[in-house]
Amino acid sequence: MSQGAESGIDAPPGREKELADALSNLRRRIDDACRSAGRAPDSVRLLPVTKFFPGTDIEILYRLGCREFGESREQEASAKVASMSQLSQVRWHMIGHLQRNKAKSVVRWADTVHSVDSERLITTLDGAVGAARDAGVRTRPLRVLLQLSLDRDPGRGGIAPERLTELADQVENAPNLQLAGLMAIPPLDADPDAAFAELAGLHRSLLTDHPAATELSAGMSGDLESAIAHGSTRVRVGTALMGARPITSQ
Ligand SMILES: *Cc1c(COP(=O)(O)O)cnc(C)c1O
Repeated sequence: MSQGAESGIDAPPGREKELADALSNLRRRIDDACRSAGRAPDSVRLLPVTKFFPGTDIEILYRLGCREFGESREQEASAKVASMSQLSQVRWHMIGHLQRNKAKSVVRWADTVHSVDSERLITTLDGAVGAARDAGVRTRPLRVLLQLSLDRDPGRGGIAPERLTELADQVENAPNLQLAGLMAIPPLDADPDAAFAELAGLHRSLLTDHPAATELSAGMSGDLESAIAHGSTRVRVGTALMGARPITSQ
């Protein structure tokens, strides 16, 4: 389990003010980006990304009004979620690459998975949610965002745009899954504007056949303005809110 995931440990002095300031700066950035794009400020939701940060930070953000959190490593997340059961009405999002052998665990805590990118993962998640429902550890279907690859590099995860329709239909037909929308991360060395423009086009065409798939999860600390200009409904922000993550090999 990651350090500090247990509750009952106090946050360092000053952390509450630090997070409160970062959160209000970030909300201002999102509002400004919405205004520049001619969009309503409430059309974009913030998903604080708390990976690598302790449960005490999540408790502070909860006191500051946050009710949704994004995590990217299944083991770290499931331990943290278990230690945060005193926080009611929280929705947890899995945003990182997900291996099929973690499906059984992830469906116990995640409201939404942003990183669904293969036929086999869809089948496994659907079965895992079904089993969790039968066992009484879950009631709702799992909200699924299909992750698109915008650089045609299969090594980085994500679905090739050519396969989007096929996988969207598969999710739609899975009894325990709900197709909520799309997610993408712009290629490392690409212009985020071009990547988000392509993503927006793919989202528009998805909506013609799947009108309920309204969510567009796009934009992080460094590129949220561009993502919002291109229709993002959900920005996933870590560094700009939490500070720098510890350096790891991942
Ligand atoms: C870590 C992470 C983020 C947050 O990135 P920042 O640049 O720190 O805001 C967003 N999306 C995914 C999928 C991530 O893994």
